Amino acid sequence: MSVKVRFAPSPTGKLHVGNVRTALVNWMFAKGQGGAFVLRIDDTDLARSTPEFEQGIEDDLSWLGLVWDERHNQSKRFDRYEEAAARLKASGRLYPAYETADELDRRRKVQLSRGLPPIYDRAALELTDDQKAAYEAEGRRPHWRFKLDGKRVAWEDLSRGHAEVDTASMSDPVLIREDGLFLYTLPSVVDDIDMGITHVIRGEDHVTNTGAQIEIFEALGGPVPSFAHMPLLVGADGQALSKRLGSLSISEMREQGYEPIAITSHLGRIGTSDPLEVGTSIDALGQSFSFSKMGRSPARYDTADLDRLNAQALHVMDYATAQPRLAALNCDLGEPVWNALRPNLQKFSDVVDLERIISGPVTPVVDDPAFAAAALDVLPATLEADAWSVWTAAVKARTGAKGKALFMPLRHILTGQEHGPDMATLVPLIGRERIEKRLGGETA
Ligand code: GLU
Repeated sequence: MSVKVRFAPSPTGKLHVGNVRTALVNWMFAKGQGGAFVLRIDDTDLARSTPEFEQGIEDDLSWLGLVWDERHNQSKRFDRYEEAAARLKASGRLYPAYETADELDRRRKVQLSRGLPPIYDRAALELTDDQKAAYEAEGRRPHWRFKLDGKRVAWEDLSRGHAEVDTASMSDPVLIREDGLFLYTLPSVVDDIDMGITHVIRGEDHVTNTGAQIEIFEALGGPVPSFAHMPLLVGADGQALSKRLGSLSISEMREQGYEPIAITSHLGRIGTSDPLEVGTSIDALGQSFSFSKMGRSPARYDTADLDRLNAQALHVMDYATAQPRLAALNCDLGEPVWNALRPNLQKFSDVVDLERIISGPVTPVVDDPAFAAAALDVLPATLEADAWSVWTAAVKARTGAKGKALFMPLRHILTGQEHGPDMATLVPLIGRERIEKRLGGETA
């Protein structure tokens, strides 16, 4: 059996690190098994779905390298959902209910006040045809509930191990709203069957849904796929990330200059036993992925880890990969310069400042002209790789300055800044001519 998975986002917002992790784990699992990855846009809610969000989802996935093998829109498949609903109605599993939200709410409060679980009491199943007709005459439209078996639904979860949900402790889920809208539950199952999905991989917030959905798979004649429910993301403080996910959108991270491979390595490896290091490629991440490496505790999302992985990705980026981006930023100084600069980068765009320090113009900040003159006096004739240590030793011998009092004024003069990258790397790249000018207070 070849593996087929789906990522099913609703185009009602931007992709964030939580749903991209789901997409990525699906993709890695499928690619590691030589299987297929389906992008399914869950846009049954026509009022909340927008083409802009849909486009954003595709752009983000493509940018990350999460290429899909098939793509579908639920909004083009309503006839399939109607057909499935008709079958469930015919077999008595889908029944009309007429309660208003207020009525249901009042009933729940009474149940709770009596210490009973607030489960739908199935009063609608007792309605006679006359009572239904009377409701319709009043202008009420029914919503449609799926009649659960009320049994223990069990499955072997790829992530959680043996899992069970007791559907007797759940309300019969509403599959179709009174305005005719198909809620997510039924279309998802119909599509999983029609598209031959073998594994449903999603967050553990869907465990309860799975109990009901397995019953729906069975009621529609299956087959029932395998399931994996991943532990959710928590922040560095251990608190659930769900409320902060809105501010962790992929498009924003892209604007902030994160590399796709840093994001995918981070999201693909947190909460697993793999070391949190940057991968060589997204394909390599797929090849090494296994659910057996995924722990049961929540995955800790810490931006400091992402920053570290992002720097790692840049430190090993070869010139051929970097070159077009350097050219686009107007700072392609050739392979040796790239190789010298890349260990200093946290974000790719840092290279712009570095390039400016090398090529100028830099306005030097000379606090002590006598010190600058002394430093010029002992500047080595040719600047080899060890020029910085040779030179600073000579300046120290000449002026008696040491430590911060030695390094800070030189940095200030040569770069015009108080902080910055490793001077030992920069000095040979800046070159003698510019260094002489800057020591003399000239912009160069
Ligand atoms: N559209 C659903 C969601 O984003 C899909 C859940 C699923 O994977 O079944 O939560």
